[in-house]
Amino acid sequence: MTSQRHFDLIVIGSGPGGYVGAIRAAQLGLKVACIDRDKLGGVCLNWGCIPSKALLHGAEVYDEAVNHGKDWGITIGEVKVDWGSFIGRSRKITEQLNGGVGYLFKKNNIEHIQGHAHIVSGNNGVTPCVVEVKTPTGDYYNGDGGEVYETVTADRVLIATGAKPRELPFAPCDGKTILNSSHAMTLEERPESLVIIGSGAIGMEFAYVYNAFGTNVTIIEMLDRIVPLEDEDISKLAQRAFKKQGMTIHTSASVNAIETNESGATVSFTKNEKETSVDAQKVLVAIGVGPRCDGLFDDSLGMELHRGYIKTDAKDVDSPTYKTSVSGIFAIGDIIGPPLLAHVASEEAVTCVERIAGHHTFGLDYKSIPGCTYTNPQIASIGMTEQQVKDSGTEYTKGEYSLKAHGKAISVGAADGVVKILASKPYGEILGAHIIGHDASELIAEIGLAIRLEATVEDIISTMHAHPTMAESIHEAALGTENRMIHN
Ligand SMILES: Cc1cc2nc3c(=O)[nH]c(=O)nc-3n(C[C@H](O)[C@H](O)[C@H](O)COP(=O)(O)OP(=O)(O)OC[C@H]3O[C@@H](n4cnc5c(N)ncnc54)[C@H](O)[C@@H]3O)c2cc1C
Repeated sequence: MTSQRHFDLIVIGSGPGGYVGAIRAAQLGLKVACIDRDKLGGVCLNWGCIPSKALLHGAEVYDEAVNHGKDWGITIGEVKVDWGSFIGRSRKITEQLNGGVGYLFKKNNIEHIQGHAHIVSGNNGVTPCVVEVKTPTGDYYNGDGGEVYETVTADRVLIATGAKPRELPFAPCDGKTILNSSHAMTLEERPESLVIIGSGAIGMEFAYVYNAFGTNVTIIEMLDRIVPLEDEDISKLAQRAFKKQGMTIHTSASVNAIETNESGATVSFTKNEKETSVDAQKVLVAIGVGPRCDGLFDDSLGMELHRGYIKTDAKDVDSPTYKTSVSGIFAIGDIIGPPLLAHVASEEAVTCVERIAGHHTFGLDYKSIPGCTYTNPQIASIGMTEQQVKDSGTEYTKGEYSLKAHGKAISVGAADGVVKILASKPYGEILGAHIIGHDASELIAEIGLAIRLEATVEDIISTMHAHPTMAESIHEAALGTENRMIHN
């Protein structure tokens, strides 16, 4: 069957980039369709941010009750974990949320088209953008699309097709022993041992979940520290905290081979020029993600790419439009490259469609994007690391506040951690903030707002923070930049 439905905007992908962009465009009066080859909500709602946080919360509840209950005078008898229910709950949450996106689409009169989108042509000023909708083929992340069952046209197309897990060329994921993050989210049984390759946010979050329940976790990281994108001091503290929790961590270690066998796998790696290996029941490959444009367009379309990601004007100009090299086609979110974060995808989408609709928008400040790792302790940061500040040659001062003396942190049993604020000299402009500790992912928002408002550390100091709260630690760290901390 063919049809020629026409829209002002077709959004391809319904992740936090696509669905947010579609809703904002509809709010601005555009006639919008959103095509997705799988469930609404994208990786974020189905296989990323949301289900992983449900698992992390469950692991934290277990860890607090079983391993730390006695600190609070709570003695627990025999503990049973119903692994199926634990995983099941996180899956149910994803269903609730992708249903929620469907509801929002209906509410905003957005046409939801299920299928694999293939862009045939851009808008050349005479004819509109043409998109074929095909039957989805392959698995969640891979597949070019099969038969065409509808052709739709639009004045503009917004690509938001996201990213997919990278694999090791010599050891592709089989979903049984060698896993990607989606496999690790739905294991039928908890493995007794798990090797995690890569210690970024995703690797460490799974490390925390499995380690908390008693799995023997080994992390192998190629760089010389874990969570290597974070400030060096934070990496060191994280490594100490996770080792204390029982994880084995190998840094400066590079994996050469993974041999599967009846009981699991042997992972061979080189560390300090020495060959070594570790056996485990399962291996999680968490070495990052790469662009996802299988069957999205033909080479003949002339779409310009950069390292496989779709190239836009995002990083080249002050007020990007997110235009690609093909007329009428825009792209946002993971598919245009790092930073690969849900909130970045959403904000880029809003900025893009507001600019398409001629609506005023501030746009994103790529220099102040918060990033969080939801382990216990949590890690959160924004702006420059101390090394980046040093490299920039900016004169700076830092306030480093340890949670050891922090009333709220002590009262909730979370006194391990640090808040570090970097500020310019002499004006106290906030250059970066780095937190490891309880509620770090919530605390970082205050710094984000401060940077957005061009507030100085003096503004944070003169802002009253309620007592007792973790937020007071931001106040203390700000005081620290002026050498006048009270509780340290
Ligand atoms: C385990 C894990 C944990 C994460 N945790 C966090 C976190 O805590 N915080 C955070 O900010 N980020 C996190 N992320 C990253 C976050 O999920 C992504 O940055 C975000 O989902 C990107 O959004 P997007 O809209 O660009 O694309 P996606 O969410 O990837 O959505 C892309 C959509 O496009 C669809 N699609 C692809 N190709 C086609 C096609 N040809 N036709 C039709 N549809 C297509 C897909 O089906 C999918 O629904 C995590 C990722 C993972 C894997």
